Amino acid sequence: MLMRTPAALRGATSGNQPWTPADRQHLADLYMKDPRPGVQEMAVKLGRAPRAIQTEASRLGLNSPGAQPRKCMPCQRMFFSAWIGNRICARCEPMIVGCA
Ligand SMILES: [Zn+2]
Repeated sequence: MLMRTPAALRGATSGNQPWTPADRQHLADLYMKDPRPGVQEMAVKLGRAPRAIQTEASRLGLNSPGAQPRKCMPCQRMFFSAWIGNRICARCEPMIVGCA
């Protein structure tokens, strides 16, 4: 019986896989492209539903007018910054918050 295995459960909720930092980075990379690929194309590349792409993009602020790539102050890496005051990437943020 496979009905109650974790794999079966994952199959049932494949539209709601948790986003990993790598997934979010990939999504941000796609958004930074010029011209920006369509939602459908990004959905295919990330293996997710177009609706999931739109939801995550708005959660990350990728759709906001001031959103653009900026350099992270602690690590100097380029990352997708949702607004001009956001200068710390997702990788560094937990450390900064932990120190505060
Ligand atoms: Zn950083």
